Amino acid sequence: AHIFDVKIFNLQRTMQRLGLSEDQRRSDYLLTSEEACNIALEYGLDPTVDDERTFDIFPEPDAEGVVQPLRPPVVTIMGHVDHGKTTLLDSLRDSSVATGEAGGITQHIGAFSVPLSSLLPSAPADSSTPGTITFLDTPGHAAFTAMRARGASVTDMVVLVVAADDGVMPQTKEVIELWKADQDKVGLVVAINKCDKPGIDFDKIKSALGAEGILLEEDGGDVPSVRVSGLKKEGLDKLVETLSTLAEIRELRARTTGKMEGYVLESRVDRGQGNVATVLVSKGTLSAGTCIVAGTTWARVRQMQDSAGRSLRSAPPGTPVSIMGWRDLPSAGDQLLEASNEDEAKKAISNRLREIERKKLLADVESINIKRVAERKKVELEEEGVGRLKEEGKSEAEIQVWKREFERQSGAEEEGGKKELRLVVKGDVSGSVEAVVGSLEGIGNAQAGVKIVHVGVGEVGESDVHMAEAGKASIIAFSVPTSRSTQNLARTLNVPLHSDSVIYRLIETVRSEVIKLLPAVY
Ligand code: GDP
Repeated sequence: AHIFDVKIFNLQRTMQRLGLSEDQRRSDYLLTSEEACNIALEYGLDPTVDDERTFDIFPEPDAEGVVQPLRPPVVTIMGHVDHGKTTLLDSLRDSSVATGEAGGITQHIGAFSVPLSSLLPSAPADSSTPGTITFLDTPGHAAFTAMRARGASVTDMVVLVVAADDGVMPQTKEVIELWKADQDKVGLVVAINKCDKPGIDFDKIKSALGAEGILLEEDGGDVPSVRVSGLKKEGLDKLVETLSTLAEIRELRARTTGKMEGYVLESRVDRGQGNVATVLVSKGTLSAGTCIVAGTTWARVRQMQDSAGRSLRSAPPGTPVSIMGWRDLPSAGDQLLEASNEDEAKKAISNRLREIERKKLLADVESINIKRVAERKKVELEEEGVGRLKEEGKSEAEIQVWKREFERQSGAEEEGGKKELRLVVKGDVSGSVEAVVGSLEGIGNAQAGVKIVHVGVGEVGESDVHMAEAGKASIIAFSVPTSRSTQNLARTLNVPLHSDSVIYRLIETVRSEVIKLLPAVY
């Protein structure tokens, strides 16, 4: 009204004529751009959308009908705790550095490439195979779960590590469940590990796998398997060969030219180097000098390093590299895109930040609207109730008693508007805590949802129970032990404690708790 220089009343009448409802004509309603444009036109103003403020960077569509070059497969190693994932990754990482190479200090950057030739002397060096395999080595299942939760699937194959002396365990089953949900896109290889140990009963392991629906190729099924010893570095060649064969069958291809695309695998603040992130290039080629954006931050690539600390000038698809110079720290799972120049990167980021603010504002308005509808509903219900009592010939005193009880009940229900299941989350490593938090935060709707009041790594202790009690929260413990005395304390203080080593079961538990919070339907 101020811009048009008219009275509010006049503006609202115009809005009514344009078909906007009573709610939409309220002063705290946030107009959509289309509604605002229509109103402006009504007052003879030219509504132009500011391209600068809507500019963003998007992936480039692939050219159709072009056969792209093969790319290395991206492999994630998963399995139950202590089954030997870390040891196997260490042995494989060692192979990523050619023997006798100067330097040769490998570092954990979240992923590394293993040249096939380092384990398979007879590997063909022609272009019919990509020549390397990329392994993700983020601890726990964090990279896989967090990325999957965000819709970014970077993994082509999962190696399920099963310790020969321990067999199928809860997290083994969890990996199988995760894989089954993605099996059209993700290959599976079972690595029976610790085969250096004596007295192994392979049939027992295989029948336990069979019970989970995993039938190995050697028994006529379709899941390839290898027997390895990560510790003794035995069978690694066979593992790499199997992965490479699987990759060949699946013909994983990606363009190497055009705008680069990828994902952030890991990020950290390094004391000397500042904000560092490991990224995996999925399309195009990343070169020094390029400007890249991820989430709400950007960097100009000056130097790229692989996991062996080597400097790279360019990184084709499937190459994990660590990059310094980020203005802020990007998050694992953020999509990585190439900007034409710094200005473009900055513009896209500031628009993304504004969009986040706008969404927050919209969510606030939405919750105000929900509250208002609830209030109106309450008034209606109260009037209805009073009317009914009057019809029944109840006395004024009886009606007052009913009204007080009605107030008390609806007051209890409306407390805080949106209902919250408050949670304290503990997990075994920071990566898994992040993954659990990421999965739980999304649960719920506008009426009821999850609020995480505290997160931590390590065993659930008595202080966690006291914190949960003070914060009226439940405790979610992922893959961490809880002592008997802590459990007793939780029971005494009436603090619900859900403990599991299987993420999806925790998600189900939380979901059903949130559903219980939803208001009863009248
Ligand atoms: P993760 O929890 O799955 O990462 O398991 P680790 O790699 O930390 O291994 C757990 C334990 O098993 C360690 O004590 C390793 O030394 C041992 N281990 C791992 N691989 C092997 C193997 O191939 N043979 C034997 N005998 N022990 C192994």
